This record gives sequence, C-alpha cells and structure tokens, in this order.
Amino acid sequence: MYPDTELHIAGRWRAGADRETLGVLNPASGETIGRCAVATTADLDEALAAASRAFPAWRSVAPFERAKVMRKAADLLRARVDEIARTMTLEQGKPLAESRVETLAAADIIDWFAEEGKRAYGRVIPARADGVLQVAVREPVGPVACFTPWNFPINQAVRKISAALCTGCTVILKGPEDTPASCAALVRAFLDAGIPGDALSLVYGDPETISAYLIPHPVIRKISFTGSTVVGKKLAALAGAHMKRATMELGGHAPAIVFGDADVEKAVAVLAPSKFRNAGQVCVSPTRFLVHDSVFDRFVEGFTNFAKAVKVGDGLDPETKMGPLVHGRRLDAVTALAADAESSGATLRAGGKRIGNQGNFFEPTVFTEVPLTARIMNEEPFGPLAMINRFSDDGEALAEANRLPYGLAAYAYTRSAERAARVSNAVESGMISINHHGLALPETPFGGVKDSGYGSEGGPEALDAYLVTKFVTQANF
Ligand code: NAD
Repeated sequence: MYPDTELHIAGRWRAGADRETLGVLNPASGETIGRCAVATTADLDEALAAASRAFPAWRSVAPFERAKVMRKAADLLRARVDEIARTMTLEQGKPLAESRVETLAAADIIDWFAEEGKRAYGRVIPARADGVLQVAVREPVGPVACFTPWNFPINQAVRKISAALCTGCTVILKGPEDTPASCAALVRAFLDAGIPGDALSLVYGDPETISAYLIPHPVIRKISFTGSTVVGKKLAALAGAHMKRATMELGGHAPAIVFGDADVEKAVAVLAPSKFRNAGQVCVSPTRFLVHDSVFDRFVEGFTNFAKAVKVGDGLDPETKMGPLVHGRRLDAVTALAADAESSGATLRAGGKRIGNQGNFFEPTVFTEVPLTARIMNEEPFGPLAMINRFSDDGEALAEANRLPYGLAAYAYTRSAERAARVSNAVESGMISINHHGLALPETPFGGVKDSGYGSEGGPEALDAYLVTKFVTQANF
C-alpha cells in the first residue's frame, strides 16, 4: 500500500549506516503507515564523495544528451502518476486530484528545464585590440545541496533537481521526512531514466544535523532551501559564513486586494479555492484579503459560502476537496492562531476549529475585521485560515499590503488598467497576479523579496542560480 523509503547514495538504494528509521504517519488517520531511513554523517560523506566524483563527468555530458535523459524521467513520472499520487495523498493528505496535478506538473517542469539547459548561453564581448577574443562562459557551479519541505513533496524538489541537473551540477537532496516516499519516487524516476547514480543522492534524517554538515562542507558549492523564514535565515547565515551561493524560497503572507471596481464574483471564484488548496499549506496562498468597502459584503458572503461548502476529508475519497493538515505541529499552530484571532476581537464567519479527534482536520475558516495586532495578521498561517479586512482608499490597501516583512506573492482584482499598473508597481513582492491566479509555471520566475528570500525557482533565472560566469580572454599568437 505505502512504500518504506530508503536513502539513495552513490547509486544504491539502502538503509542508513546505523539502520535507524523514522515513522511516517497518515495525516488523515494518525496511523503509522511506513518508515523512512535516516542518514548518518558516514552516509553523508558517501553522498558527498559521490557528488564530487560525478561532477566532472556530468558537466561534460552535452546539454542535448542531458535533456534526453531528463525527458525520459518526465515520461516515467507520467507513466507512474497513479501510484505516485496515491503515495503522496497517503503521506501528505492532499486530495488525490491535487497529488495527480502535482506529479504531472513536475513532469512538465522537468521537460521545460531539459530544454532550457540547452540555452545556457554566454556572450562574446568586443575586445579593445585586434586578435583578442573575450568570452563570458557559463559553467555549472558544482555539487549542490537542496533542502525541500513536505507541502509539495515533489514540486518543491523537482525545481531544484531539474535546474541543477540541466546545467551540469550534481545534487544531494535532503527530502521531507514527513512525506518521504513521493519525493523518493521523483528521485527514482530520474535515476531509472539514466541520471548517473552518483550524480543524485537522496537523504533523510535530522534536518538540522544534515544541513549543519552539508552546507559548510567544501564539496558543496551551492545550497537551495525551501521552508520557513526562521530556518532560512539560519541556513543563509551558515552559507554566508562559508561563502556558498544560496537560493532561499521562504514564507509568505500574501495580500489579495479586491478594489471597488473588481469583478467580485470572479475574485471569489479564483481566490477562495486558491486559499483552501492543499489546506492552505502553500507559500503563495492568498492570506490577507483587503477588500474595498463598496464590495466588502458581497465578497465576504461569496467567500464564506464557498468555505462552508468545502468538503473536508480523507484525500483518497474522490469527493474530498480539502484534506488534513500535514502533521500535529501544524494542527496545533493553526488552532492557536485561530483562537488568538477570536480572542483579539476578529469576527468568525466560518469554521474556526478542529474537525473530530482523529487525523489533523481543520475547518476552512474565515475571519473578518481582524485587528492588525492579532498574531495571524503577522505570522504565516500556513493553514486554511482567511482573514478579510476592509479598506476605503487605495493608499490604505497598499500600505497594509507592504506592512509585513514578507514579500512572496500578491494578488489584485480591478477592472482599471491604470490601477493594475499602479498596484503592480507599488507592491513589494516577488510575484503579483492580477485578475487571475497565474503563478508557479516552470517558464516564469518564482521567488520572493524581503524576508521571503532571494533567488528564483522558475524561468531562465532559475538556471542562473546554478551557473557561474567565467571570463575568458585569449590573444592570438
Ligand atoms: P519547520 O520549520 O520545522 O520545517 C519546515 C521545513 O524546513 C521542513 O521541510 C524541515 O525539514 C526543514 N528544516 C527545519 N529545520 C531545518 C534545518 N535546520 N536545516 C534544514 N532544513 C530544516 O516547520 P514545519 O512545522 O514543518 O513548517 C512550519 C513552517 O514552515 C510553516 O509555517 C511555513 O511557514 C514554513 N514552510 C514553508 C514552506 C514553503 O513552501 N515556503 C514549506 C513548508 C513549510
């Protein structure tokens, strides 16, 4: 039913050196469904040696050939989608349909990076003297350590692995211990397709121990992390101390501004499902809804009706539209944030509490008139909590949108082209989607500013993160 997860090191799937394992829980039932191997530092040393050994050969493989192998990995994911999606839902909780979309989207991401890797162009720089050739060459940075979370067990990992492999880097991935098997299925697809075993290792264990060992290690030349801002700052500091390049995809607290001239029904139809997708455990989830006075009541009514109708349940049930939260820590955190919002004076319009006492289910929740001092208006909820507040002039909405140190995604709804341009210019975020939900395509930039991190995980910018520039100047004899 659910596979145990081994480490993949130096071309072999195997247990950790001391055979320690962690239990994996089904968040819908609380039951232990499998085990995940734990890496020791001896295992990490082996993975490091493999990544170092494989790098010269993998970087020398022609981009066209690398692309062929990667495309095969994408096809394997498509062929295995039913099994992988089921595994993901069992360990992560999201509805089966969402697990399928994530797996198939990962295949498209691999295809896109496979092609883009062929276009890691440098440039020729006009020289000041005859007979001199000046070129800027793009080279792979070297072995990379990647750290990915549980909310999108495949999607968070595939962007990093694909960008690294298509540019000629080798990879050690520390996957998510809460949801290890679907991430391992992704790695298996790459390996089965023909990625050299030494070039892609997969480890699990104690995140802090592993990152503290890998990041300073001289073999590792770059790190890429997706997770919370608190952890990201620690890892970025460690990377800085050891002069390692870093990509940080961290938390968000996305404002969604609905202006008085918006198509309100459309705004509800797009924003409400987007809020409750993956039970709100999404870094770009719309979170602070800022709605103009003139359309506030209509928006709140539509949004609340949607929230009340969301069918919450086991992700394997085809009727389910929202699954449980991933683990007990998340359930506790969301419960505490909702309780704090209520006691701060927010108006509860829907949900607000845990469902039942088995599994980590929480009601789709809507608050209005939430005081800015409530914890939830300042901390990333990472759960099915929507906060809707009103505004009366544009300046007020923009000031609130930019109030927090986060700057990942933002959303706006307006029929005015002039207002749309003004908002996209004024909002401090790495991404803004206006009048639709258009984020996270492989070919478009994906990343944040301010405390939401730096670097991009989509578009050509995602390849830049894995490439260094070498200047070569050569005079004729
Ligand atoms: P957490 O902070 O313990 O873990 C978040 C992720 O970071 C996990 O994948 C974990 O393995 C990893 N991690 C933690 N400490 C690490 C370390 N020292 N070195 C390397 N990796 C480390 O908490 P959590 O309860 O699992 O999630 C809480 C918060 O994390 C959420 O509220 C959200 O803000 C953030 N988060 C963000 C994303 C994202 O997509 N940006 C994904 C998952 C979690």
